[in-house]
Amino acid sequence: MNHLEVWKKTRESLRKKQPTHAYSTWFEPISSIGLNNGELVLEVPNQFFFEWIQSHYKNVIQNEVNSLSPRPLIIKYTVSPEGAIKNVFTENFESSKKTNVAQAKHPRLNIKYNFVSFIEGENNQFAKAAALNVADMPGQQAFNPLIIYGGVGMGKTHLLHAIGNAVFNETPNKKVVCASSEKFTLEFISSIQKNRTADFSKSYRNADILLIDDIQFFQGKEQTQEQFFHTFNELFQAGKQIVMTADRYPGEMIGLQDRLLSRFKSGLAVDIQPPDFETRVAIVMEKAEKNGLKLPYDIIELIGTHIKKSVRDLESTIIRLLAHSSLSNKEIDYDLAKKVIKERLGSRVISDLTVEDIVRRVSETTHIKERDIVGASRKMEIAEARQISIYLCREILGTPLVSIGMHFGGRDHSTVLHACRVIGNKSKKDQRVGALVGELKNELSFAIN
Ligand code: ADP
Ligand code: MG
Repeated sequence: MNHLEVWKKTRESLRKKQPTHAYSTWFEPISSIGLNNGELVLEVPNQFFFEWIQSHYKNVIQNEVNSLSPRPLIIKYTVSPEGAIKNVFTENFESSKKTNVAQAKHPRLNIKYNFVSFIEGENNQFAKAAALNVADMPGQQAFNPLIIYGGVGMGKTHLLHAIGNAVFNETPNKKVVCASSEKFTLEFISSIQKNRTADFSKSYRNADILLIDDIQFFQGKEQTQEQFFHTFNELFQAGKQIVMTADRYPGEMIGLQDRLLSRFKSGLAVDIQPPDFETRVAIVMEKAEKNGLKLPYDIIELIGTHIKKSVRDLESTIIRLLAHSSLSNKEIDYDLAKKVIKERLGSRVISDLTVEDIVRRVSETTHIKERDIVGASRKMEIAEARQISIYLCREILGTPLVSIGMHFGGRDHSTVLHACRVIGNKSKKDQRVGALVGELKNELSFAIN
């Protein structure tokens, strides 16, 4: 039997044993691409699919194959390439290197994170343009260093790797070095312990393009910053490109040395905002399609309306939908979608939302105690958290000024009005306040009836 026959038989037999829905979702899309030295290589459509198979159907498939093949076969999975690169996933990653299906892939870059798969919207246009520019011509002064900043799940890592993948594939002679700042830190510490700091430095300093993810983790780590500072300078002076991501505007990072910050200022900092509604819809459509999930437009819109915070949230909503539908063996309909969205949002609907909820949420986000928020302190951060809470109560709940005043330590209505105005203005002018208010608003104001 050749591999195609083995898989065909396996599939036929699975079709009989598995529920129709599970079969069409999880087995039909798999194809066999080779049999070599007792290894059957199966291709799956995407990484999520691969993970799902690993955790749910690995043994089912293995047993079925074994019962049909004259000799036991080892099953390996490869994720269908978006570009030309094949990536073989096996249980033991090391052994994947030996299979001839595996091809050049940067060990630290995720090939799924490329420019093609990055969906553009108003929220990320500028960041993407800057990233493309850097990938095209690394090392130009105006874009060096490039810092991409924004909240969690906005696509910062995606863009960082997209730059790396583009350079890695198009100019293989350029050395791409990529690490998270945590990894950089850990490697640095371990190099000290092993007396190998010289090797450590070398591995970073011979980069043509250095990609460092989440530099906020450098905060407060003096020695690592020192080390990074030297790496940075050396590369920068040699005209090498440096790209970094951060969870906020670098100038706002506490615990980063000034001299590091002033180095960062010489380049370009671009932000990624949360996706707007149209972009969210585009993302849902694209991600659903990639996962082989057909969704009617009303469901796409439902997701886009309620899942607002990040692209990661949108993605995981789709994954949950897939999982739900496959586990319960049901088609995805509006009710199922609603259920999954509610689960994701913690089923808090607007009618349940109270002033206390808002204060609690502001307290969790700002780390200022609830009793301080409603108390009398005039300390700046406390007063600001209070004003933000007041503003949100007015905006989201529409609570009357007088009754908001009562909740916040018996303040009169003009104080409440003043707070609303202050935050209204600040959230337009002050990026930090704007982002904070935006995030809280997004999180608190949903209603699914
Ligand atoms: P961050 O680093 O900002 O926290 P990630 O880059 O890890 O976010 O993105 C989270 C997930 O969302 C990833 O799977 C990524 O591929 C996806 N994603 C984010 N932005 C986009 C986008 N504009 N288009 C397509 N996928 C995106
Ligand atoms: Mg990231």
